[in-house]
Amino acid sequence: LGCIVMLMRKHRGLFLKQPRLLVLEEVPTPTPTREAVLIKVLSAGICHSDIHRWKGEMPCPEGFEAGAGTHEVVGKVEERGEMVPEYIKEGQKVLVYFLRNYREEDKYTRRGLAHHAKTPIFIGGMQEYVLVPTYHCLISIENLRDIHAAPPLACAALTSYGAVKKLKSYVEPDDYVAIIGLGGLGSYAVQWLRILFPYVNLIGIDVKDEALNFAAKFAKIDVLINAAKEDPAKIINEVTRNDGVKAFIDFVGSTGTINTYIKMLSHLGIYVVVGTMGKEVILPVLHTLIAKEFCLQGSFMGSIQDQYEIVEFARRGLLNYSDVVTRRLKFDPVEVNRAYQDLDEGRVLGRQVVIFE
Ligand SMILES: [Zn+2]
Repeated sequence: LGCIVMLMRKHRGLFLKQPRLLVLEEVPTPTPTREAVLIKVLSAGICHSDIHRWKGEMPCPEGFEAGAGTHEVVGKVEERGEMVPEYIKEGQKVLVYFLRNYREEDKYTRRGLAHHAKTPIFIGGMQEYVLVPTYHCLISIENLRDIHAAPPLACAALTSYGAVKKLKSYVEPDDYVAIIGLGGLGSYAVQWLRILFPYVNLIGIDVKDEALNFAAKFAKIDVLINAAKEDPAKIINEVTRNDGVKAFIDFVGSTGTINTYIKMLSHLGIYVVVGTMGKEVILPVLHTLIAKEFCLQGSFMGSIQDQYEIVEFARRGLLNYSDVVTRRLKFDPVEVNRAYQDLDEGRVLGRQVVIFE
C-alpha cells in the first residue's frame, strides 16, 4: 500500500498555460533515481528572462513551464537517488545551480561549466518540488543567514559575478569601469566590482534615478549618470580626461547601448555584453577593434565553481544579498502573476522572491 501512495503523490506548481497566465495545478511528484535529487522548494526568485516567456515573446522549452522558466531556487533535500553521495543529506538546505541541469556528462560539465552543457535539461522551479537530475548542481547553503533571499544567487548574482570576473586581466588600479543598467543584476555587479577590484573607479549608468539610487545603497559608485537626462559621452570624457573607460559591463545589451558606449572604451579595453536586448553589433574594425585592441566579450551565467564562491561571499557577509530582495511574495497565483506584470512594467527595484515554506 505504501508503494501505491508513493506513486500517486502530487504537488502544486504555477504553470504557464497561455501568455501572461500562470495557473495553479497539481502534478505528479517524481521519484529520484541514480544521481537525481528531489528538492522541496523553500523559495524561488523571479528573473527578467522568465518575463519574456511569460509574455509569450520567447518560446518556453518543455519542462520550463513552471513559472515560465523559474531558475532561481533554494530548497531542502527531500529524497536522493541511489548514486547520490553521503555528503548530500536529507533535510540539507541547498541552492540549485541555475536549474540548468544536463542529461549527460561532457567535456564542459566535467569542468563545472554546466552552463555550456551539450545536453541541457530545463526545469521550471515555480513548484513545490523539483527533480534535479544531478547532485553536482546542488550547493549547500546551510550556514546562510537569510535562506529565503538566496535564490537570486543562482542567477542575478551569478550572471553579474561571471561578467565582473571577466575583467580580471584587463583592469588596473585607477582605471574606470562602467556598469550599464543598474536594476536587479547591477545591484549585485556593483558589489562584485568593489569586492574583486576595490581599486577601480566605478561609473554607474541607468535611465532611471530610482535604479541609480538603489544600486548606490550597495556599493560606493564614484560617478552616477542618468543617460536619459545627461550626455554620458561628455561626462565620461571629462572624468577620464578623454582616456575612456577601461571596461564596460552592459546589462542592457541593446544595439543602442553597445554602439553608443563601445566608442567610449579606452585602448586595451574590454566590453562585456550580458543583456540580450540587441540584435547585432556593428563596429569599425581598423580604428577601434584593431588599433585600440578592444576585446568584445559575451558573458552567460557563470560556472559551478563561481556559484560556490558566491555562496561563500554571501556567507561571510561580504555580499549584501538580503536587501537586494525587495519583495517577498506568497506562493499564490494572483500574487505571482501580478509580480511578473510589475516587473514587466518596470515597477520593481531589486529582486522578487516567492516563499513556499
Ligand atoms: Zn535569470
